[in-house]
Amino acid sequence: MSWIVKDASELVEFLRTKGGVYGPAGDDRIVFDELGNGAPPNLSRLSDVSARNVFQPMTHYYLRFEDRPDTEVSFRDYDTTPRVVVGLRPCDVAALTVHDTVFAESGSYRALRDATAIVGLVCPAREEACFCDSVGVDPRSTDGMDAALTVAVGGGYVLAALTDKGRTLMSGAPFPESGDATAADFREADHPVLAAEGVPEALGRLREMEIWDEIGFACVNCRVCTYVCPTCHCFTVTDEVFGTEGGRAAVWDSCQSKSFTKEASGHNPRATKPARVRQRILHKYAYYPEVEGALMCGGCGRCIKGCPTGRNIVEELTLLKGGAAT
Ligand code: SF4
Ligand code: SF4
Repeated sequence: MSWIVKDASELVEFLRTKGGVYGPAGDDRIVFDELGNGAPPNLSRLSDVSARNVFQPMTHYYLRFEDRPDTEVSFRDYDTTPRVVVGLRPCDVAALTVHDTVFAESGSYRALRDATAIVGLVCPAREEACFCDSVGVDPRSTDGMDAALTVAVGGGYVLAALTDKGRTLMSGAPFPESGDATAADFREADHPVLAAEGVPEALGRLREMEIWDEIGFACVNCRVCTYVCPTCHCFTVTDEVFGTEGGRAAVWDSCQSKSFTKEASGHNPRATKPARVRQRILHKYAYYPEVEGALMCGGCGRCIKGCPTGRNIVEELTLLKGGAAT
């Protein structure tokens, strides 16, 4: 079943009758957030930050306590009331499989994931930093989406329900059926792509630090690349006390932070920048593929666009692959 949706804000209005609605919000800086009454999602380009916070909140207090002998510690799970996330692109949906794998044993994550329907957006155009198809993701794919929006010739979107969850979500939709509406052509771009084949094998041999010092020379360890990425998932656990109350929270963390691997003894196995730069690239392109048989990258290019010093993972992997081959 498919419909014509003239305006994405009308879709959000309808979906809000089914649960909370999340989507890309903002203009200069697009991030995934809950869309309020009448707020349209910004589908004009790929968001600057991924939808990771929809599935793994940036800060989640899972335990609360009070400094009083007669009170008990209380546990708080994720809010798992039904909700829908609109505007996830194929690279982001593919990236979710990493979270699904890493958090497979987490009942809390599974409950949150199951409570969430995905209304994806088939990519209308390749953007400057995209290299999804280099890592095996088709920008026109609807895999993993419960319903999919495709930009229609003549404006608006064709919206197709693809799964039982998507059909239930769209029941009672007030939109006209799509009839013979057709999807607009995908707009290609001319920019370098990554020849990803053989990269995990080539990188697996690059353990010496000199090459990583060279590759990561420009890095200032700001961590932006990891916080915008849809496949990154590392977190730390921290206790906070506010007066007589407190909580224990799971908070996003980053392998690019010097303190990330610092042990209670004071020893830090990744105390140097080259060691941290190596970890980020090898985890995504060598270690994870070795264990799971898939790259830990959706090719969204957000780390390229977000890096304040201009590091480019496509250029670096190309260089590293060539270096390893010689
Ligand atoms: S965004 Fe750039 S400078 Fe910041 S940690 Fe990542 S690679 Fe380093
Ligand atoms: S490593 Fe970069 S290109 Fe790959 S998924 Fe993360 S942000 Fe996107």
